[in-house]
Amino acid sequence: MMERDLSWNVKNGLLFKKVNLRQYPNCESAWKLFVPNELRGKVIKECHDEVKAGHLGVRKTAFRVKQFYYWPNVIQDVKQYIKSCETCARFKTKPFIESQLVRNKVFGMVKDKMERCHMKSSNVYNKKRNVGSLQVGDIVWKRTKYLSNANKKFMAKLAPKFEKAVVTEKLSETVFRLNNIFGKPIGMWHIKDLKTL
Ligand SMILES: [Zn+2]
Repeated sequence: MMERDLSWNVKNGLLFKKVNLRQYPNCESAWKLFVPNELRGKVIKECHDEVKAGHLGVRKTAFRVKQFYYWPNVIQDVKQYIKSCETCARFKTKPFIESQLVRNKVFGMVKDKMERCHMKSSNVYNKKRNVGSLQVGDIVWKRTKYLSNANKKFMAKLAPKFEKAVVTEKLSETVFRLNNIFGKPIGMWHIKDLKTL
Protein backbone atom coordinates (compact mmCIF):
# COMPACT_ATOMS: atom_id res chain seq x y z
CA MET A 1 0.00 0.00 0.00
CA MET A 2 1.39 3.35 -1.01
CA GLU A 3 1.75 5.93 1.70
CA ARG A 4 -0.12 9.17 1.15
CA ASP A 5 0.95 12.47 2.62
CA LEU A 6 -2.30 13.63 4.19
CA SER A 7 -0.99 17.09 4.99
CA TRP A 8 -1.32 18.19 1.35
CA ASN A 9 -4.40 18.46 -0.81
CA VAL A 10 -5.10 19.73 -4.30
CA LYS A 11 -8.42 21.44 -4.86
CA ASN A 12 -9.39 23.10 -8.13
CA GLY A 13 -5.74 23.23 -9.05
CA LEU A 14 -4.75 24.98 -5.82
CA LEU A 15 -2.41 23.34 -3.36
CA PHE A 16 -3.38 23.36 0.31
CA LYS A 17 -1.23 22.47 3.30
CA LYS A 18 -2.70 21.20 6.54
CA VAL A 19 -1.07 22.77 9.58
CA ASN A 20 -1.32 22.07 13.30
CA LEU A 21 -4.13 24.39 14.45
CA ARG A 22 -2.70 24.56 17.97
CA GLN A 23 0.03 26.81 16.58
CA TYR A 24 -2.58 29.08 14.97
CA PRO A 25 -4.69 30.77 17.66
CA ASN A 26 -8.08 32.15 16.53
CA CYS A 27 -7.84 30.37 13.21
CA GLU A 28 -10.77 28.43 11.84
CA SER A 29 -9.22 26.34 9.12
CA ALA A 30 -6.11 24.18 9.31
CA TRP A 31 -5.85 24.19 5.51
CA LYS A 32 -3.62 26.96 4.21
CA LEU A 33 -3.23 27.97 0.60
CA PHE A 34 0.27 27.24 -0.65
CA VAL A 35 1.69 30.33 -2.32
CA PRO A 36 4.19 29.86 -5.15
CA ASN A 37 7.44 31.80 -4.99
CA GLU A 38 6.45 34.50 -7.46
CA LEU A 39 3.32 35.51 -5.50
CA ARG A 40 4.81 35.57 -1.99
CA GLY A 41 5.92 39.18 -2.24
CA LYS A 42 2.42 40.20 -3.23
CA VAL A 43 0.86 38.35 -0.29
CA ILE A 44 3.29 39.96 2.17
CA LYS A 45 2.66 43.37 0.63
CA GLU A 46 -1.11 42.97 1.01
CA CYS A 47 -0.76 41.83 4.62
CA HIS A 48 1.79 44.48 5.54
CA ASP A 49 0.99 47.71 3.75
CA GLU A 50 -2.44 47.41 2.23
CA VAL A 51 -4.19 50.73 3.02
CA LYS A 52 -5.91 49.54 6.20
CA ALA A 53 -3.13 47.20 7.29
CA GLY A 54 -1.01 50.15 8.34
CA HIS A 55 2.49 48.70 8.05
CA LEU A 56 2.53 46.01 10.68
CA GLY A 57 5.70 44.74 12.31
CA VAL A 58 7.34 41.44 11.45
CA ARG A 59 5.44 39.35 13.98
CA LYS A 60 1.97 40.68 13.17
CA THR A 61 2.54 40.64 9.42
CA ALA A 62 3.76 37.04 9.54
CA PHE A 63 0.79 36.14 11.73
CA ARG A 64 -1.63 37.54 9.17
CA VAL A 65 0.13 35.81 6.30
CA LYS A 66 0.01 32.48 8.10
CA GLN A 67 -3.69 32.71 8.85
CA PHE A 68 -4.49 31.91 5.24
CA TYR A 69 -1.27 30.98 3.50
CA TYR A 70 1.55 28.53 3.72
CA TRP A 71 5.09 28.43 2.45
CA PRO A 72 8.37 27.55 4.15
CA ASN A 73 10.11 30.32 6.13
CA VAL A 74 7.38 32.95 5.96
CA ILE A 75 9.06 34.87 8.80
CA GLN A 76 12.35 35.24 6.88
CA ASP A 77 10.58 36.60 3.81
CA VAL A 78 8.51 39.00 5.93
CA LYS A 79 11.63 40.29 7.71
CA GLN A 80 13.32 40.85 4.37
CA TYR A 81 10.30 42.63 2.98
CA ILE A 82 9.82 44.97 5.95
CA LYS A 83 13.52 45.78 6.06
CA SER A 84 13.19 47.24 2.59
CA CYS A 85 9.84 48.97 3.16
CA GLU A 86 10.40 52.70 2.66
CA THR A 87 7.25 53.79 4.47
CA CYS A 88 8.26 51.82 7.56
CA ALA A 89 11.70 53.39 7.48
CA ARG A 90 10.15 56.86 7.41
CA PHE A 91 7.33 56.44 9.94
CA LYS A 92 8.54 53.64 12.20
CA THR A 93 5.21 52.68 13.83
CA LYS A 94 1.57 53.46 13.23
CA PRO A 95 -1.62 52.39 14.99
CA PHE A 96 -3.22 49.38 13.41
CA ILE A 97 -6.83 48.30 13.28
CA GLU A 98 -7.20 44.57 12.78
CA SER A 99 -9.79 44.01 10.13
CA GLN A 100 -11.20 40.65 9.16
CA LEU A 101 -12.77 42.36 6.18
CA VAL A 102 -9.41 43.36 4.74
CA ARG A 103 -7.98 39.92 5.32
CA ASN A 104 -10.86 38.25 3.54
CA LYS A 105 -10.59 40.69 0.66
CA VAL A 106 -6.88 40.05 0.25
CA PHE A 107 -7.33 36.31 0.43
CA GLY A 108 -10.07 36.47 -2.19
CA MET A 109 -7.87 38.51 -4.50
CA VAL A 110 -4.89 36.21 -4.31
CA LYS A 111 -7.04 33.11 -4.64
CA ASP A 112 -8.82 34.53 -7.68
CA LYS A 113 -5.53 35.38 -9.28
CA MET A 114 -4.15 31.91 -8.73
CA GLU A 115 -7.34 30.30 -9.96
CA ARG A 116 -7.24 32.37 -13.11
CA CYS A 117 -3.64 31.31 -13.76
CA HIS A 118 -4.61 27.72 -13.24
CA MET A 119 -7.63 27.99 -15.50
CA LYS A 120 -5.58 29.56 -18.26
CA SER A 121 -3.13 26.69 -18.27
CA SER A 122 -5.72 23.94 -18.07
CA ASN A 123 -8.46 25.46 -20.21
CA VAL A 124 -7.26 24.18 -23.56
CA TYR A 125 -6.99 20.69 -22.25
CA ASN A 126 -10.27 20.69 -20.38
CA LYS A 127 -12.18 21.76 -23.46
CA LYS A 128 -11.11 18.57 -25.13
CA ARG A 129 -11.24 16.23 -22.15
CA ASN A 130 -13.80 17.41 -19.64
CA VAL A 131 -11.83 15.96 -16.72
CA GLY A 132 -10.33 19.20 -15.46
CA SER A 133 -10.97 18.81 -11.78
CA LEU A 134 -9.65 15.36 -10.89
CA GLN A 135 -8.70 15.36 -7.25
CA VAL A 136 -7.04 13.03 -4.81
CA GLY A 137 -9.63 10.48 -3.74
CA ASP A 138 -11.65 10.67 -6.94
CA ILE A 139 -12.70 7.43 -8.57
CA VAL A 140 -12.06 7.28 -12.30
CA TRP A 141 -12.28 4.87 -15.21
CA LYS A 142 -8.84 3.89 -16.41
CA ARG A 143 -8.32 2.48 -19.87
CA THR A 144 -7.12 -1.12 -19.69
CA LYS A 145 -3.92 -1.88 -21.51
CA TYR A 146 -4.43 -5.33 -22.91
CA LEU A 147 -1.94 -6.51 -25.50
CA SER A 148 -3.30 -6.45 -28.98
CA ASN A 149 -1.07 -8.96 -30.74
CA ALA A 150 -2.61 -11.94 -32.52
CA ASN A 151 -2.46 -14.28 -29.53
CA LYS A 152 -4.26 -11.89 -27.28
CA LYS A 153 -6.72 -10.58 -29.81
CA PHE A 154 -9.59 -12.71 -28.65
CA MET A 155 -9.08 -11.84 -24.99
CA ALA A 156 -8.67 -8.17 -25.75
CA LYS A 157 -12.04 -8.11 -27.44
CA LEU A 158 -13.76 -9.63 -24.44
CA ALA A 159 -11.91 -7.62 -21.82
CA PRO A 160 -13.52 -4.49 -20.45
CA LYS A 161 -12.14 -1.31 -22.00
CA PHE A 162 -12.07 0.58 -18.70
CA GLU A 163 -11.62 -0.36 -15.08
CA LYS A 164 -12.15 1.62 -11.90
CA ALA A 165 -9.22 3.26 -10.13
CA VAL A 166 -8.66 5.82 -7.38
CA VAL A 167 -6.57 8.99 -7.72
CA THR A 168 -3.92 9.00 -4.98
CA GLU A 169 -1.74 11.87 -6.17
CA LYS A 170 -1.98 14.69 -8.66
CA LEU A 171 1.44 14.99 -10.29
CA SER A 172 0.38 17.65 -12.79
CA GLU A 173 -2.72 18.82 -14.58
CA THR A 174 -2.56 15.79 -16.79
CA VAL A 175 -0.71 13.07 -14.88
CA PHE A 176 -2.06 11.20 -11.88
CA ARG A 177 -0.90 8.41 -9.64
CA LEU A 178 -3.56 5.76 -9.18
CA ASN A 179 -4.47 2.81 -7.00
CA ASN A 180 -6.73 0.04 -8.21
CA ILE A 181 -9.93 -0.53 -6.26
CA PHE A 182 -8.12 -2.99 -3.99
CA GLY A 183 -5.70 -0.28 -2.85
CA LYS A 184 -2.76 -1.52 -4.87
CA PRO A 185 -0.66 1.17 -6.62
CA ILE A 186 -0.87 0.90 -10.40
CA GLY A 187 1.48 3.69 -11.33
CA MET A 188 1.16 6.99 -13.14
CA TRP A 189 -1.48 7.59 -15.78
CA HIS A 190 -2.06 10.30 -18.30
CA ILE A 191 -5.46 11.93 -18.41
CA LYS A 192 -6.00 10.72 -21.96
CA ASP A 193 -6.44 7.22 -20.56
CA LEU A 194 -8.87 8.32 -17.84
CA LYS A 195 -12.56 9.05 -17.75
CA THR A 196 -14.60 10.49 -14.88
CA LEU A 197 -17.48 8.38 -13.58
ZN1 LIG B 1 5.95 49.06 5.82
